Amino acid sequence: MARGYFIAGNWKMHKTRAEAAALARELVAALADGGHKYLVAPSFTALETVAALVRGSNILLGAQNCAVEEEGAHTGEVSVLQLKDLGVQTVILGHSERRHIYKEDDGLVNRKARLALKHGLDVILCVGELLEEREAGKAEAVCRQQTVEGLKGISAAELPRVTIAYEPVWAIGTGKTATPEDADAIHAYIRKVIGELYGSAAAESIVIQYGGSVKPDNAAALMAKENIDGALVGGASLRADTFVPIARF
Ligand code: PEP
Repeated sequence: MARGYFIAGNWKMHKTRAEAAALARELVAALADGGHKYLVAPSFTALETVAALVRGSNILLGAQNCAVEEEGAHTGEVSVLQLKDLGVQTVILGHSERRHIYKEDDGLVNRKARLALKHGLDVILCVGELLEEREAGKAEAVCRQQTVEGLKGISAAELPRVTIAYEPVWAIGTGKTATPEDADAIHAYIRKVIGELYGSAAAESIVIQYGGSVKPDNAAALMAKENIDGALVGGASLRADTFVPIARF
């Protein structure tokens, strides 16, 4: 099955509602005839505003995280039910900032992924190694573990609603990009792991994004690689003049 490209912007903890609305308006206009699949993930506070602007466009609405429970006494958390109510279609889970700053482990990421899928949200599951893990030759092992553990209990029927984002932690927000060859090698490895878990057809069709300092000047070379099916973009997604050229690479 031919895989399409999927370009997503993670706005992280940036933008007021007015700023988010301005960017969403620009992207809707600039990508109206774009040929790929697109998503923006604003902060929770701007989701409702951006939802109204991207509705009916070719840009999907994503959230950057969700709670591990459906509802209850979880001060400060936001549930999948609340996200769905706002029109969110996809949730980013296991982002390295969640794993490393907020100490989310594979078990928690997996429970969130299963809950999101159960409630009809798609999932972008982020995996990626730290610099010291790469230098110790453990990049593949780390990505294998985060992929296997993250997907535990997720059925073959649900897998088409999961995108994997390979985001080497040392490349996120640092200006250091993995070379297209290094990234492609890990993508191929993750695809092999998916094949072991779900079979070769699933491995062929799963979309694997690259994330880590994707910019207008390196996007095309990354996307040209056989196993790279899109990008999860942080810094460069915050402005139309940097995100649009990536999205239209
Ligand atoms: C990210 O946080 O998902 C990311 C890839 O960030 P940046 O593009 O800024 O490296």
